Amino acid sequence: MFEEDGKALLILELRRGGVTDRRVIDAMERLPREMFVPEGLREQAYENIALPIGHHQTVSQPLTVALMTQALDVNDRMKVLEIGTGSGYQSAVLSPLCRRLYTIERYRELMRGAEQRFEELRLTNITTRIGDGSMGWKEQAPFERIIVTAAAHDIPPLLVDQLAIGGVMVVPVNDGRDEHDQRLLRVVRTEDGVETEELGITRFVPLVEGDEP
Ligand code: SAH
Repeated sequence: MFEEDGKALLILELRRGGVTDRRVIDAMERLPREMFVPEGLREQAYENIALPIGHHQTVSQPLTVALMTQALDVNDRMKVLEIGTGSGYQSAVLSPLCRRLYTIERYRELMRGAEQRFEELRLTNITTRIGDGSMGWKEQAPFERIIVTAAAHDIPPLLVDQLAIGGVMVVPVNDGRDEHDQRLLRVVRTEDGVETEELGITRFVPLVEGDEP
């Protein structure tokens, strides 16, 4: 199938899946997802599926990326933290929608690939760091928005600490009911704690604590 046809079909699928935010649709329409997947899988780049990117990690399903970005409700005045850079696709969707994006990945090699893509696409408002994202990025806190693209066991407490009051975090949480499925949560930090809303069920690779093995 021609790339443009594939993209148009994917955009239809995103709309059907509940993506209504024009800015999210535009950002994904502009972005060449084939740049973010291994060469042998480029033909599948516009299918609504997660694809392997090495180190047993995946670039998330496009509909999941779109719904998480929409739920984050980000704008160009905001400083955003992303945990789990992976291929850099989610980062590249967020980059034009926010002021500055800070993104953390455990695997040096994945980060190297993502950084090359950011450079090629001239996404100059992204700052990267290798390490354990569950610790957050203290020097840059507070963040107006935090997005976690790997499944946590619980809402990561250090990330809540680094969220601005009124700020939003979107995070998939595996509460043990099913080892593969997670509840996608939208967490709002309030003066005295958090308010949590469940957005649906998703599948992510686990958030692993500690540095790259
Ligand atoms: N947002 C990515 C999806 C990546 S999958 C994309 O669009 O391609 C989840 C990523 O989280 C993997 O690359 C994995 O290595 C990373 N990860 C898992 N635990 C982590 C941690 N504690 N800190 C930082 N990155 C982590």
